[in-house]
Amino acid sequence: VKEKGKNNYSFYANGLNESAKKRLTLEKEMYDALDAGHFEVFYQPQVDIKTHRIVGAEALLRWHHPQKGLLLPSKFISLAEDIGLINPIGDWLLNAVCSQQHSWQQTNLPVINVAINLSHKQFLHNDLCRRIDQALIKHHLQANSLKVEITENVMIKDIDRIAQILCDIKALGVSIAIDDFGIGYFSLNTLKNLPIDQLKIDKSFVAQLSQDSDAANIIQTIIVLGHNMHMNVVAKGVETLDQFNQLNRWHCDLIQGYYFSRPVTAMVMTDLLAKKVLS
Ligand code: C2E
Ligand code: CA
Ligand code: CA
Repeated sequence: VKEKGKNNYSFYANGLNESAKKRLTLEKEMYDALDAGHFEVFYQPQVDIKTHRIVGAEALLRWHHPQKGLLLPSKFISLAEDIGLINPIGDWLLNAVCSQQHSWQQTNLPVINVAINLSHKQFLHNDLCRRIDQALIKHHLQANSLKVEITENVMIKDIDRIAQILCDIKALGVSIAIDDFGIGYFSLNTLKNLPIDQLKIDKSFVAQLSQDSDAANIIQTIIVLGHNMHMNVVAKGVETLDQFNQLNRWHCDLIQGYYFSRPVTAMVMTDLLAKKVLS
């Protein structure tokens, strides 16, 4: 029995070692990636539902891993959050986006607003607002070139403190969007007390829009709620013409999804902006 227990123990320890090792490797690789410039910002257009013009974009992080290829955020963001690397990565992204916005604004391309995603950990870092301000100054940008997106889980704890930081960011002139609205912890009271400019409808509602009348009702309600509170409303994950038409009938303002474009490199985004009206 003793022998067997020992074997089981070493088997278990080896198993732990394997996953801990993998995690450590990925951690180290992530630090290197930041230095080596292996992160890239992709942009997904946000299109005005009435004019079909691109009026905004969401910045989405990508990692060009030397062995594993192009990695999506689901493969590394939560680890980056756990080890505190989300702050340097977030800073890098903020500056990359501001620098890109500056070059776009030097051209005749239509002026757009770019949204960046912020996770809970980035709000716990004290000087978030100051770093946003400094990035805007450094890249000679007006604050309305930028938007920050928070999901409802950003507000699970430290609500008062995070609300204060959001107010400070809003005071700079940067706009604020609530991402995946309707599936998280956000209370209507929080919505009432925060300076929110935009609601983004979660893609799970959009996906069910034509089959499920409850999903359809929820979407229409979010649109009316947003408009009554002077916010604009974006539908995420729009993949079909049918979804587009329905959202148009319900007076949704903006569309983001594969129907118009997947997230693309800055270069491809530049071409899309040059086309002005997407078809
Ligand atoms: P998100 O904020 O919900 O971003 C939208 C995600 O939906 C993106 O996934 C996008 O590629 C995907 N998507 C866009 N259109 C469609 C569509 O029509 N259908 C479907 N099925 N999916 C669509 P992505 O790029 O893999 O990003 C995943 C998440 O990672 C983002 O979700 C965001 O929460 C997070 N993320 C991305 N970049 C950053 C970042 O710089 N910082 C932080 N903290 N989080 C980030
Ligand atoms: Ca987002
Ligand atoms: Ca999401």
